Amino acid sequence: MMNTITSSKVPVVELPSGEVLSLKVIDIVGKKKGPMCYLQASVHGAEHQGNAVIYQLLKYLEKNEIAGSIRLVPMANPIALNNKIGTYTHGRFNSNTGDNWNRLYHDFTKDNDQVLEFAKKYLGYDELDIDKQYKLLLSKLIEDKKNENSNYGIDRNGHVNILLQELAHNADYVLDLHTGPVATRYLYVPEYLEEKCADLQFPHNLIIPNNFAGAMDEASFMPWINLQRAFKELGRDYDIAFEAYTVELGSEERISLEEAQLDLRHILHYLFLRGIVTEEDNPITTTIKKCKLKDYKTYYAPRGALYEYMVQPGQAVKKGEVLAVALNFENHFKEEEIKIELRANQDCIVINHYPSSSVPSGAELFQVMESIY
Ligand SMILES: [Zn+2]
Repeated sequence: MMNTITSSKVPVVELPSGEVLSLKVIDIVGKKKGPMCYLQASVHGAEHQGNAVIYQLLKYLEKNEIAGSIRLVPMANPIALNNKIGTYTHGRFNSNTGDNWNRLYHDFTKDNDQVLEFAKKYLGYDELDIDKQYKLLLSKLIEDKKNENSNYGIDRNGHVNILLQELAHNADYVLDLHTGPVATRYLYVPEYLEEKCADLQFPHNLIIPNNFAGAMDEASFMPWINLQRAFKELGRDYDIAFEAYTVELGSEERISLEEAQLDLRHILHYLFLRGIVTEEDNPITTTIKKCKLKDYKTYYAPRGALYEYMVQPGQAVKKGEVLAVALNFENHFKEEEIKIELRANQDCIVINHYPSSSVPSGAELFQVMESIY
């Protein structure tokens, strides 16, 4: 007998015309017991490649048995995905409120007495029991959050986010699939997972603090960090088994099924090492480079101009090399050169650049890794 595959829909919003936008949830359950992995894509509506990877993963799961379960939520933000302006998807910000969709998740365990009470109650229990019981508490806290002020209606800003947190709360591993603007492949890795992140074999890894700033990965791992802190206060060292990563799969506004095959190999390798995928023929290996978030530098455009990007995402660049050339015709009237150059301050690896050539001063032109180890 193969895996059991079921699908369901979760309504997100009713449009003024009466149509309802929904989340599409696909659950794959193996015959054997095992952990649960949760994957979602396109919370930023222009970031499509994760859906191509979910498609390839689903094809794989139709033919290959797993242990445990996998929950897939492609097109995880239908509001953002459908938000077109001309040919572009305006998918990063809620067009009603201006909020970044990946800063709208909820942190309901910070300074929460119920977490401390839980830690006291389960102080002497083994970690498997703790993890199981804690997920029940998380489910209750999410339910409480959803019901807050519900007599006065539901605030649409952040509603899809709490629905996604609810869908993910039972998972042992959460992979939030994103892309950059014009970008290479990279991971956001919380400090506590720095030793484990190599299991995804991503070439570029940004190590972020174990803090909450509103993103899905943080919203998923912070309950476990907060539990660990509560146990620490009580004198117990608790090992966090839970993992969450933001997985950046190249550039926005495109998909490639061929690249998705390669992306899938990273994910299958990870799932194999976590005991969900049961066989692996062709393990992937990559040279892994890391830097701390403080060394992930943004070059803000020094001038408004039309820019030609002279380096590609993923490329290693030496200090002093030209990153971009740009044209500004105002220079002509000041007896300056129309063509200007931007050079690298330090040796770095280019992670992403602005998707358009037309750039105002102060825009995020490049993001690069420095002090790489
Ligand atoms: Zn994103």
